[in-house]
Amino acid sequence: MPLSPEQIAEIDALRANATPTLRAVSEGMEGHLYTAYPVLDHGFVRVIDYMGDDAAICQAARVSYGKGTKSVSNDAGLIRYLMRHWHSTPFEMCEVKLHVKLPVFVARQWIRHRTANVNEYSARYSILDREFYIPEPDALAAQSTVNNQGRGAALQGAEAARVLEILKSDSHRAYDNYEQMISQDGQDGLARELARMNLPANVYTQWYWKVDLHNLFHFLRLRADAHAQYEIRVYADEICKIVADWVPHAYAAFADYRMGGVNLSGSAIDCIRRMLKGEEVTQEASGMSKGEWREFQAVLSDG
Ligand SMILES: Cc1cc2nc3c(=O)[nH]c(=O)nc-3n(C[C@H](O)[C@H](O)[C@H](O)COP(=O)(O)OP(=O)(O)OC[C@H]3O[C@@H](n4cnc5c(N)ncnc54)[C@H](O)[C@@H]3O)c2cc1C
Repeated sequence: MPLSPEQIAEIDALRANATPTLRAVSEGMEGHLYTAYPVLDHGFVRVIDYMGDDAAICQAARVSYGKGTKSVSNDAGLIRYLMRHWHSTPFEMCEVKLHVKLPVFVARQWIRHRTANVNEYSARYSILDREFYIPEPDALAAQSTVNNQGRGAALQGAEAARVLEILKSDSHRAYDNYEQMISQDGQDGLARELARMNLPANVYTQWYWKVDLHNLFHFLRLRADAHAQYEIRVYADEICKIVADWVPHAYAAFADYRMGGVNLSGSAIDCIRRMLKGEEVTQEASGMSKGEWREFQAVLSDG
């Protein structure tokens, strides 16, 4: 279970304590505030705070004195225009602060997104919990044979059982040794900042992560994508659901132009034009490499 009864009670108390404000409020986001949404076996993501809403994006784009809102359809159109033309700074006017609990190997990928503000749980100061990410059987996949940076079908039978057992026993043995080393029972006890180096990368950490909407969309574009590793994608998917409720127009534009759209090279556009004129274009005549052509074909196919 990701949260203790005491932590859940703290969240309930926060949610019960509403205060009036003059600030812009997103009704959709208010419904999510503080609630921890489980991700993986011990992780979660929850919204601690946020600033702005769809109207704030329009307000900034129009550098308005008032709310900046004209009509809902007008705002939706403006937001689509901004997204379509990469006019990104109005999206930076919205911010969100998340509390995320995640395995260290996922945190290593996440932290590469440098345009956020982060404060991580200190394993120098505090003792880490005995919590390790152990994949569900269907996520315990074999190495992909076509993509060095990917995975194939789930391991089966005795191999799956053996791998699962190794992951569990190694994690617990490392934690037993961690506990032994930091113990001050009849010994000095090794410093926590040193003892933690013995722990595997599937141990859980936590952080507060604050980012503006433009950079959050960039994160989601990369990490909610099918090519992202499953273990970070599930966090991105959960955040997508929250953002869709927070800024519905901006999220819809993002889903359409960024998640649903593709970048086409000049050669690809030239091919499409030739195809529309009835020419049967081959890879050799396309000006594209085999890899580019394969990806182009995947874009054109409706499967
Ligand atoms: C599928 C996938 C596979 C990956 N594989 C690898 C890998 O094998 N090895 C690896 O090391 N990384 C890998 N990465 C990480 C990737 O290279 C990026 O570091 C990560 O996605 C963060 O992207 P970003 O730098 O655009 O984001 P952010 O750090 O949030 O930056 C956002 C944007 O701000 C600008 N920016 C930020 N900081 C600077 C700066 N210092 N200088 C110039 N511009 C800046 C850039 O325009 C950048 O795109 C992978 C990422 C993905 C999604």
